[in-house]
Amino acid sequence: MEQPRKSTVVITGASSGVGLQAAKALADRGWHVVMACRNLEKAENAAKTVGMPQDSYTIVHIDTASLESVRQFVKNFRESGRSLEALVCNAAIYMPLLKEPLRSPEGFELTVATNHLGHFLLCNLMLEDLKKSPASDRRLVILGTVTHNPDELGGKIPPRPDLGELKGFEAGFKEPYSMIDGKTFEPVKAYKDSKVCNVLTMRELHQRYHSTGITFSSLYPGCVATTPLFRNHYPLFQKLFPLFQRYITGGFVSEELAGQRVAEVVADPAYRQSGAYWSWGNRQKKNGKSFVRQVSPEARDDEKAKRMWDLSEKLVGLV
Ligand code: NAP
Repeated sequence: MEQPRKSTVVITGASSGVGLQAAKALADRGWHVVMACRNLEKAENAAKTVGMPQDSYTIVHIDTASLESVRQFVKNFRESGRSLEALVCNAAIYMPLLKEPLRSPEGFELTVATNHLGHFLLCNLMLEDLKKSPASDRRLVILGTVTHNPDELGGKIPPRPDLGELKGFEAGFKEPYSMIDGKTFEPVKAYKDSKVCNVLTMRELHQRYHSTGITFSSLYPGCVATTPLFRNHYPLFQKLFPLFQRYITGGFVSEELAGQRVAEVVADPAYRQSGAYWSWGNRQKKNGKSFVRQVSPEARDDEKAKRMWDLSEKLVGLV
């Protein structure tokens, strides 16, 4: 007898950390996982290391910093003939020690290009694939973070995110511009700004497209202090940060638990609420429950969401 077709999820940045554990958790739940990664060999080794069965995943190249690569990824995915039931935008870089901005292949500041612009294009293109899926339950999930929100304890540490009037985006976001607000380069703020854009993108997708039946959501999985996200920080920071989060703030979450939380938001009926930003709180409690958290004032600013959307559309060449 023919087996029913598995649901397919695309996860960007599934070669380590949260993305890898989410891939494993969804494969364990019977999904087919398309691991969208920039380093194919690393992704293959990672999938083997966590014990994902060979037939539960495929690995397809993507460099989310490159608009051309994002377009090629979508083409390759479509050629596979698979339907798409969920997309998880997870890939990210954090480069706190940079003195000067790095640039993407198209000339944009690299952190915002990798974390926001590439995913913005991917979401817009793959919306068509989600719409075409015959499944009634289709979801698009974008990873957020507490540091996007100065109203929360974890988001109070400066520099705080601020897209300002989006003058850097308006000016084309290439040399000499490296920050969305058009001001001087600050790498930590670039990361936080990119995550504000991730939340604004989710909310604007919800505004525009929730009538399609697709669920758009975001989440803060907790502080996953051991992942390679912090590989570009001082070695001493990398050593102390997990201990600080585990024993002082109580915000520490293992990579496995963070991956399971992503899988729940992708697959569980309880998370079929479009426009929601899920959190398990700042201090992790045993058997702590998730709840819908209010996003930062900037990330719930509807006018800013529209402006960010219009300018991002121009930057990635959708209009
Ligand atoms: P991570 O282990 O460093 O994973 C990041 C993933 O993104 C890696 O697979 C990496 O690929 C990939 N990536 C980076 N640049 C890419 C590019 N240009 N193209 C394609 N893939 C690229 O970090 P993580 O902590 O798991 O972070 C995953 C997500 O969780 C991020 O969105 C982050 O903002 C969010 N998050 C993390 C925390 C935390 O405490 N760690 C908290 C809240 C939210 P390589 O393996 O090739 O480098």
